[in-house]
Amino acid sequence: MPETFNRYVMNTYGRFPVTIERGLGCRVWDTGGKEYLDFVAGIATCTLGHAHPALVEAVTKQIQKLHHVSNLYYIPEQGELAQWLVEHSCGDKVFFCNSGAEANEAAIKLIRKYAHTVLEFLEQPVILTTINSFHGRTMGALSATGQPKYHQHFEPLLPGFEYIPYNDIVAVEEAITNIDEGNRRVAAIMIEPLQGEGGVRPGDLEYFLRLRKICDETGILLVFDEVQVGVGRTGKMWGYENLGVSPDIFTTAKGLAGGIPIGAVVCKQFCDVFEPGNHASTFGGNPLACAAALAVLNTIERENLLQNVQARGEQLRTRLRALVQKYPHIFSEVRGWGLINGLEIREGVSLTSLDIVNKALENGLLVAPAGPKVVRFVPPLIVSPQEVDMAAEILDKTIASLV
Ligand SMILES: *Cc1c(COP(=O)(O)O)cnc(C)c1O
Repeated sequence: MPETFNRYVMNTYGRFPVTIERGLGCRVWDTGGKEYLDFVAGIATCTLGHAHPALVEAVTKQIQKLHHVSNLYYIPEQGELAQWLVEHSCGDKVFFCNSGAEANEAAIKLIRKYAHTVLEFLEQPVILTTINSFHGRTMGALSATGQPKYHQHFEPLLPGFEYIPYNDIVAVEEAITNIDEGNRRVAAIMIEPLQGEGGVRPGDLEYFLRLRKICDETGILLVFDEVQVGVGRTGKMWGYENLGVSPDIFTTAKGLAGGIPIGAVVCKQFCDVFEPGNHASTFGGNPLACAAALAVLNTIERENLLQNVQARGEQLRTRLRALVQKYPHIFSEVRGWGLINGLEIREGVSLTSLDIVNKALENGLLVAPAGPKVVRFVPPLIVSPQEVDMAAEILDKTIASLV
């Protein structure tokens, strides 16, 4: 498989030498029949795990009925999904697309149009984003991403972004003061409630309260990238609910349709400035993806999955903290909310997150790195107590064999 695969597919991913061909719940099997416990879940995407009957049924029914038409026409499933999202969030209006990067691109366009048409003075709107953020790989989302390693060889970036340290309110105040010359001013702060890719770093409560206050006082838009933490991942429906503040605009994607491609921007009424012709997506909000998302969201509600996320998250963090205590010279801390958690390797230890991920894979556990020093755990929201225990045991064995 790898030889033919690599002959035809561009070399953009560091792939693990495994071909997964089947999944059920929180388990997947490779082509050799080996079983793995899946604590990656398509990178925080397979909300209901694999082959969940509700998702299978919704997608099967929808593809037999109608899977795609075009946004030239009304799509009832899209309207129903938008209604669900509005009724279960701080937002009023929704635009649909197909991925996280695309959702952020739409948010960036929405911010810019708002700046040009409502904050009329703002000819050169600046969007503040944070260092170690991750917003996607398309040029706008990449420019918003505060990690130079992703920018290298892809310059020039889109202008109009400045990066500030995460959880540092003084840096925000300074940036707003400094970026105030002629028609160049801060129009929005775009930020993850918890930095996922950047190392599973939860937002600080006090910091986010101050951010909201600054935005209320200045008219600057507060925009949250909920692509990884939204849709129940943190034990609340939206990541921002952990911080006691709500954004003016937020984006969602990864877990929204349980692994079927989808993305969305949700905004409050006052910044809903798009008009016909301003933005579009051929596949965005098609009946198939929307039916899948509705099945995911209705299952989260019906099966009370948020409660499971909170309980399993506590259980997992307890087990991971026990590992930190057992190997205090290797690990520094455990961070996370609900079922997005990171185990951080101590500064100066030569072991990397990739070493652990590779060894865990051998031992039948899928986990993912979040940067070189953090191992990330993002299992399906349906994960059971037994599966959390099993993951912790495999991890313990994995670490014991590495040290
Ligand atoms: C994954 C991710 C993205 C990009 O999503 P894609 O679907 O890969 O384009 C953007 N923001 C955050 C916070 C993410 O975790």
